[in-house]
Order: sequence, then C-alpha cells, then structure tokens
Amino acid sequence: MDKFEQMMKDIKGMSPAELNKAVEKFNSMCNCPKCPTHNKCAKNAKELLFCINGKSFMCITEEKGCICPACPVAAECGLKNKFFCMKGAEKSQRYEHALWGTKMA
Ligand code: SF4
Ligand code: SF4
Repeated sequence: MDKFEQMMKDIKGMSPAELNKAVEKFNSMCNCPKCPTHNKCAKNAKELLFCINGKSFMCITEEKGCICPACPVAAECGLKNKFFCMKGAEKSQRYEHALWGTKMA
C-alpha cells in the first residue's frame, strides 16, 4: 500500500469533524491559486484541492501548466498525477490508468 492508498484508508476512519479539519488544512496548503491554469472563474468560485475534489466545475477548460508536483499536498499525500482540475482527482486518474494504461493522458 503506498502513501496515497494509506491516506484514503485513514480518511475512511475519520469522524466528520476530523475530515473537515483535514480538508481545511489541505485547502490552506493548495498551490492552485498560484497556478497559471487557475483562472478568474475558479478563483471566484473558490475552487481548490482538485486532487481530492475532482475536476473544476465548468471553470477551467484550458491547461496553462500545472504546479501540483511542487505542492506540499502532493508530497504529503503521495500523489502521482497532476492536472487534477481537468483530468480528475488522484483517485479517478489512478483508476483510469489501471483500466486503460498509463499512456492515456
Ligand atoms: S496537488 Fe494540486 S490540486 Fe492538490 S492541493 Fe496541491 S496544487 Fe491543489
Ligand atoms: S490542478 Fe494543477 S493545473 Fe489545475 S489549477 Fe491546480 S496546479 Fe494548476
């Protein structure tokens, strides 16, 4: 089990209060607001933490680079993917790669 899988397991055992606290912590660490892809619409809608929450909801439609690999959340959670705002959460991308292979990107 890698770091991300362990984290997903730990999350399942959390109370709602603990989960809220963890999400708040990760929101405050998220690099997305500093990323060129994070546009005005996403900022106004306070969209963040795409690696956990999944794709942007109708805001981000164009990739202009991704700074996820330099994000402290990526290190803490053991993320292997990026461009979560357009390609989906780490969990979804891992699932798709398992189904279709890692070349699909
Ligand atoms: S890894 Fe990317 S999406 Fe996840 S918190 Fe960091 S910058 Fe945001
Ligand atoms: S997920 Fe990556 S590409 Fe999207 S806004 Fe965050 S840092 Fe930028």
